[in-house]
Amino acid sequence: MAGLRRVVMFPFPFRSHIAPMLQLAELLCERGLAVTVIHTTFNAPDAARHPELTFVRMNECLPDDVADPGADLVEQMLELNDACAAPFREALEWVARRGQAGRRGEVACAVIDGQWYAAIAAAAEVGVPVLALRTDSSATLNFMLNYSRLYSDGYLPIKEEKRDEVVPPVNPLRGRDMIRVDGSDAERVREFIARVDKATRTSAIGVVVNTFQAIEELEISNIQRQLLGRPVFAVGPMHRMIRAPEEHGLHAPDLGCVAWLHAHPPRSVLYVSLGSVARIDRAVFDEMAWGLAGSGVPTLWVVRPASITGCDDAPLLPQGLTDILVDGRVKVVTWAPQRDVLAHPAVGGFWTHCGWNSTLESICEGVPMLAQPCFGDQTVNARYVTHQWGIGLEFGPVFDRARVAEAVRTLMVGEEGAVLREKARGLKAIASQCVAEGGAAGAAMDRLVHFMLSFCVLT
Ligand code: UDP
Repeated sequence: MAGLRRVVMFPFPFRSHIAPMLQLAELLCERGLAVTVIHTTFNAPDAARHPELTFVRMNECLPDDVADPGADLVEQMLELNDACAAPFREALEWVARRGQAGRRGEVACAVIDGQWYAAIAAAAEVGVPVLALRTDSSATLNFMLNYSRLYSDGYLPIKEEKRDEVVPPVNPLRGRDMIRVDGSDAERVREFIARVDKATRTSAIGVVVNTFQAIEELEISNIQRQLLGRPVFAVGPMHRMIRAPEEHGLHAPDLGCVAWLHAHPPRSVLYVSLGSVARIDRAVFDEMAWGLAGSGVPTLWVVRPASITGCDDAPLLPQGLTDILVDGRVKVVTWAPQRDVLAHPAVGGFWTHCGWNSTLESICEGVPMLAQPCFGDQTVNARYVTHQWGIGLEFGPVFDRARVAEAVRTLMVGEEGAVLREKARGLKAIASQCVAEGGAAGAAMDRLVHFMLSFCVLT
């Protein structure tokens, strides 16, 4: 064990945050570092899938409402930070002491999810150099680092008449693309972002982002400027660099849907998923269902249990749609092996909420998108997908069954869809170059490891 260097990691306990953190952990292991993952009991990762990592479980004490699937997301994130900073600090000090005793490898630094602002500050206080891992895009982090300025310059709160205008400090985002969380208090959103901003600026020695230069060059340099030159490591798209099996996390995927795809011609199927958290109203769900039925396009549709507001079970499709489903044209599953689905030749389009993982996964497979952002950074990602990279369509203000059917047909069989598909293929080729041997992602990882090894914690 002599000379072994250890990195301590702390994922935020949501599926789409845990997966990229563990991908980074695997990549660091491949480069010879030892990794300890400190994690919450709430939404604990599946340690058995990662035998090369060491897991340390905290016994945090969370308020009851944190685990409620209908919880206010912003309150949930603030409460998690409040409740977990002290147990994390304790666990981190324990790992660092064991490392110094020479048994487990000296701790070089910690990588903590950027949403854990309290843990980032705690690690810095105990003398452990911290890198913040952003599991969202550089555009989103740049937006967050500009947030207080957007308020002081009068761009926020958004004025109704300015919703379609570009906001210059965060160009190309428009008023309507500003991060919002419906149902959460805007002041609490502001408070949360201010805390993330402060921890990133004052306690993190650098930032790791799951993105790549070719799609966010300007945004990456903007972050670097905001952080006064501290290093930003664009190590993405990480899911394409790991050899370990996909982290399915909180749900078991329906593997039958891949067999269902085998029976379809190339690029004929629309894949629909709004990620692991978003919830929609029943009326929106019904219009989606009728619109998909009316489009005539074969569809694989992920409908998570409890994904309809006010309904705790798997939502039933509107009456009258059963015939369309039983003829096999629309397949509904509760969770899909998404990366395999997007890589399948039968899939020709992705109706997505534009979560960052889904966006990257779609880019890497060259699948054009139909953007239906729901909250948070999804509006930012949707703007890049539709406007900046030109690989997707947005729904626009009207959302009814006729518009749904029209948008689906435009994407899947229309001329505009063909143009988007061509651009998506181009971006896929660029992403593949980035993750290939000697590509930019590997080089960024090497720089990151070199940077990490320049630290040594003395407690
Ligand atoms: N995902 C999946 N199966 C599904 C739906 C989603 O494996 O049926 C995965 C998807 O591949 C992605 C993650 O869940 O990696 C969703 O993350 P994203 O950042 O897109 O959205 P969020 O869940 O945070 O809203």
